[in-house]
Amino acid sequence: MRGGKKLRRAFSSFLLLFLLPCLLGAQTSPDDFLGFKVGADRKLADYDQIMDYFEKLDQESPQIKVLNIGHSTLKKPMIMAVISSEKNMLELDKYREIVKKLRDPRTLPLEDAKKLAKEGKVILLITCNIHATEIASTQMAMELAHKLITGKTPFDADTVLDEVIVLLVPTTNPDGQMMVTDWYRKYVGTKYEGGRMPWLYQHYSGHDNNRDWFMFNLPETRAVTKVLYHDWLPQIHIDEHQMGSTRARLFIPPFMDPPIPNVQPLLWRSVNLCGVNMAYDLEKQGFKGVVHGRSYTGWWIGACDDTSWLHNVVGLLSEMASVKVATPIYIESSEIPQSYYDKRMQFPNPWPGGWWRLRDLVDYELVLSLSLIKTAYLHKKDFLLNFYKMYKNSIEKREKGDPYAFVISSKQRDYPTSLRMLDILMFGGVEIHQAKEDFIADRKLYPSGSFVVKASQPYKPYAVALLEKQKYPDLRQYPGGPPIPPYDNAGWTLPLQMGVSCDRIENPFETKLTKLEKVPYPSPSAPEATSGYICLDSRINASYAAVFSLFKSNVEIYRSKEKIKIKGFKLKPGSFLVKNTLQIQKALAALIEKWHLPVHELDDITDIPKYPLKKKRIALYQSWRSNMDEGWTRYVFDDLGVPYTTLHNKDFKGTKKKKVNLKEKYDVIVFADEDPEIIKLGKPSPTSRWARRFTPLPPEYEGGIGKEGIEALKAFVEQGGILVTLNSACNLIFKEFKVPARNAIERVDRSKFFCPTSILKINVDNKTPIGYGMPTEAAAMFSRSLVMETWIPSGEWDRKVVASFPEEDILVSGWLLGENMIARKAAVVDTKYKEGHIILIGIRCQHRAQSHGTYKFLLNALLYPQVD
Ligand SMILES: [Zn+2]
Repeated sequence: MRGGKKLRRAFSSFLLLFLLPCLLGAQTSPDDFLGFKVGADRKLADYDQIMDYFEKLDQESPQIKVLNIGHSTLKKPMIMAVISSEKNMLELDKYREIVKKLRDPRTLPLEDAKKLAKEGKVILLITCNIHATEIASTQMAMELAHKLITGKTPFDADTVLDEVIVLLVPTTNPDGQMMVTDWYRKYVGTKYEGGRMPWLYQHYSGHDNNRDWFMFNLPETRAVTKVLYHDWLPQIHIDEHQMGSTRARLFIPPFMDPPIPNVQPLLWRSVNLCGVNMAYDLEKQGFKGVVHGRSYTGWWIGACDDTSWLHNVVGLLSEMASVKVATPIYIESSEIPQSYYDKRMQFPNPWPGGWWRLRDLVDYELVLSLSLIKTAYLHKKDFLLNFYKMYKNSIEKREKGDPYAFVISSKQRDYPTSLRMLDILMFGGVEIHQAKEDFIADRKLYPSGSFVVKASQPYKPYAVALLEKQKYPDLRQYPGGPPIPPYDNAGWTLPLQMGVSCDRIENPFETKLTKLEKVPYPSPSAPEATSGYICLDSRINASYAAVFSLFKSNVEIYRSKEKIKIKGFKLKPGSFLVKNTLQIQKALAALIEKWHLPVHELDDITDIPKYPLKKKRIALYQSWRSNMDEGWTRYVFDDLGVPYTTLHNKDFKGTKKKKVNLKEKYDVIVFADEDPEIIKLGKPSPTSRWARRFTPLPPEYEGGIGKEGIEALKAFVEQGGILVTLNSACNLIFKEFKVPARNAIERVDRSKFFCPTSILKINVDNKTPIGYGMPTEAAAMFSRSLVMETWIPSGEWDRKVVASFPEEDILVSGWLLGENMIARKAAVVDTKYKEGHIILIGIRCQHRAQSHGTYKFLLNALLYPQVD
């Protein structure tokens, strides 16, 4: 019955033709879903709505699947949409397998790689809105997804999506997206419309969430890193941002000098190819003001897109000119700087000024995102084969100046912290081996159990960039002129930051090595019930974490004033002596397990010079000016289990009847790095370069601790309180207290002294309480930091220099000009006034929760011996 079959087929074709438009129209548009046009003035979709919309698309189309890739700090789910052709969507695992094979050329010959590059699909990751106020891309993401699955694209979407798998993360900061939309909606129509929030838009880090991409402190970073280097291995990645309002409309790569030397040339060329194609597509469609080669450099590792370069992934950045969140702005032509008004080769079509709206940002971002998808399609085979070739280079090519390996000895001052560093490296995809015997490398003997990071590995650029010392090029505005500052850090070397000893090895060596699948954390045994005291090493950060936790129990703790040499072990001054009780044994077992903490046992401590340690009531000041360093300090406290109270301006104010008495409530008060004017008045001084950009906050968030707060702090110190100021907060002390110290580089010109975020050498007196547990020579993070001069005190003041810069060779990693300006000057000073102390920590001792190697300055201050 061939005729009947034909008839049926014709009928079903007819039915399909009839139904097709209905099926195509079945995908709800974001405008219909939200009830307003995406990017309309003063309208924002919040993350809950965005998740619901993506969920709806997932139900309506076989071309999109919404995955949960983790959760935010405040436990919001993080979603990622996978978008491709219907056929590809059924075989996603197969294509993930192909890129996994291409990443490891050790098991894949070139001929097979070529076949896989032909068969495979290029994977492209688009991440949006890491900086929560840079919100346009979250709105754009909904429209992009809808356009792709309904074929409303400038290219044939079926053909393109048959070769490209798009991964779309509508926000990498869900908590912040919600905070910003809530705040915006609350104040729309008032004078605070579009203004900033009084708190950080990421619970701990605020804007610094884009400085976390090698440290992985934040769960958001971890979720996306897992997508990038473990689960999906995209070949191309773009992170979409916003910048200031008055310069170019859009920055896209090529990046500006200098390039970080570890990135492969083919990678930079691929970045440029994608960037130039975007600019071309934007120009073709009449979009003005697109610039490249300015502002954003190729030197950094801590940002979301930069970490991609070092993993041989084509990492791109887009930066749109901002509006006031969703409020349009009018820019006068005269407000545009000359260099963004004139035509340049990298900027041939300047924007003349006028109205600028959220929808403009959405439009530019749609075009650039679609352009990137098209480029991925056009060069699919190349991107996949280059992916393979770059990994092959990483493994096989040893260029001039490349190390052979790095060795992390198993003999460390703080072994648990060195293991934590290995964990961080492995999460970033670094391969690590462990030696099964003693061995010699570069004429040094290393004990069995030491760790080896070979340079020859797929993620070589990343491993080397993290473990080696940075040498920032001496870039000047003109020969002999002022330095051109880097975009962010000049140096970041991870082992130096974490206080882990790690040697660069130049010459090949042989030894028995096992590749680690996970970090071999030891399981130290719990103490015997019989010993009288338990001893915790002051050199180990985890000992402090244990002590803070033990204070929750009824505990008797002492700190040794000198070295302890008993029963075959030696402990440094400041080590903790804990009286062994049943309760302590119980508490310690869990802590040993959590922190992999070695403990020692002692029967008697009568002969050890020591002082008793009391539980301290700790407070941390939080201004209403969203201070990132306060957030990171909070992170360190939460991470190590330090109990604390957050203080706001109102806590420094008394009532008509009673002055505020801080000492009644607290023993230690910490001020994180912050402008002293902000602390005191809640705004920068009118002459500050930040003053112009300062926007008012609702009245309940205005002001600072005020004169009354300063007086309360003075009384606090007089009564025996410990006041701790970090980095520029020390300036508050120089201004308001008659402390015998000052900032020696306060008014020094950049041509005489310049040190953009870099790692410097300091000498430490580790026999004094603030220096306990530190090595005598350490590496400290210097970032808009202080250099202190002290003098012979008078009256009721005293001072003790805890750490100072050496006479020469001060720079360890990064860039330093004019080291003579800081040679022999102080970095950490313990000053005493009457009963109390002011601890001035002039360096970034807990910088971005990365500099574990100098945490102890702060931790010691929290446990300062008090005579009361
Ligand atoms: Zn940004």
